[in-house]
Amino acid sequence: MTRAADAITAITLSSVTLPLAVPISDAKVFTGRQRPMTEVVLLFAEITTAQGFEGIGFSYSKRAGGPAQYAHAKEVAGLALGEDPSDIGKLITKLLWAGASVGRSGLAPQALAAIDVALYDLKARRAGLPLAKLLGSHRDAVRTYNTSGGFLNADIGAVTEAAQRSLAAGIGGIKIKVGLPDDREDIRRASAVREHIGDAPLMVDANQQWDRSTALRMGRILSELDLVWIEEPLDAYDHAGHARLTSALDTPIATGEMLASVAEHTELIRHRACDIIQPDAPRIGGITAFLRLMALADEAGLDLAPHFAMEIHLHLAACYPRETWVEHFDWLDPLFEERLETRDGRMIVPDRPGLGITLSEQARAWTTDTVTIGTR
Ligand SMILES: [Mg+2]
Repeated sequence: MTRAADAITAITLSSVTLPLAVPISDAKVFTGRQRPMTEVVLLFAEITTAQGFEGIGFSYSKRAGGPAQYAHAKEVAGLALGEDPSDIGKLITKLLWAGASVGRSGLAPQALAAIDVALYDLKARRAGLPLAKLLGSHRDAVRTYNTSGGFLNADIGAVTEAAQRSLAAGIGGIKIKVGLPDDREDIRRASAVREHIGDAPLMVDANQQWDRSTALRMGRILSELDLVWIEEPLDAYDHAGHARLTSALDTPIATGEMLASVAEHTELIRHRACDIIQPDAPRIGGITAFLRLMALADEAGLDLAPHFAMEIHLHLAACYPRETWVEHFDWLDPLFEERLETRDGRMIVPDRPGLGITLSEQARAWTTDTVTIGTR
């Protein structure tokens, strides 16, 4: 039996400001480029259809950009009304053209990402399948590592304690931040964590704050710690520098989280600038964009470790042909009713339909702006 075409009747957009428990610092704060992060601003899109189906998606920004993402989505979302929610490609192309004047990279596609993710959530819920199953998964659980315990605002004792807690909770790997002005302190912290966690997978992340020679020198020193990868050693757009580092070091290089479209990632791939690519679906325009990028990355022989937003990326990482990693952050937990399960070093793809997320009362309470376009 085929189902008649459905039609989008309403899109509710909400801007939610999530406060962080403590101000967060990575290397960009220590080099004076950014202030400690105190909140994350999320853009939620909730879509309803004539046949009574619903979908939810989100995008986000850190430090700046939240109000602009919300404003852009609000400006163009009305064009989706009346369209069949199953025609995601057509719909997103239409919305991209509507905002073409403000670009196909960065803020405009990031604003549309919330809608794109909601359309995929809706499609999977309508099919009664977890998103990963709808897309065609390779695995039901994805290797996971914790990031939220390893920031530079935490002292070594707090970082090793958090690492212990993560491993005990079934999270397989530990990532810590490096890139401090004093290299020796980076080495001390990384060595302490390696000693504390034994053979467990360990990654370091310099958040773009090394120059080329420092990255090469630190990469050689840190190779003794048997790292799974060194992340963002250089400026996110220094593809030539990353390429040199990738060929010079045995430790894999990971990067890509700051890139803001498939086209920008294509440049990274063309330069053979990393071993592990780290796209972020909300940052590059949603799941439509991410699926295109996964195909390109796989063709190029790259490993995949998506950045942040584990609630979305768990499903996508499950669909990549090669073994992947998903980044465990507990920051967004208060926004949702559900919790993702970790066991034996892996995050389990939930068996709930769609993404498997429902907004919590707390998320409603943290909503600073909301608008419904169309009629619910
Ligand atoms: Mg990172």
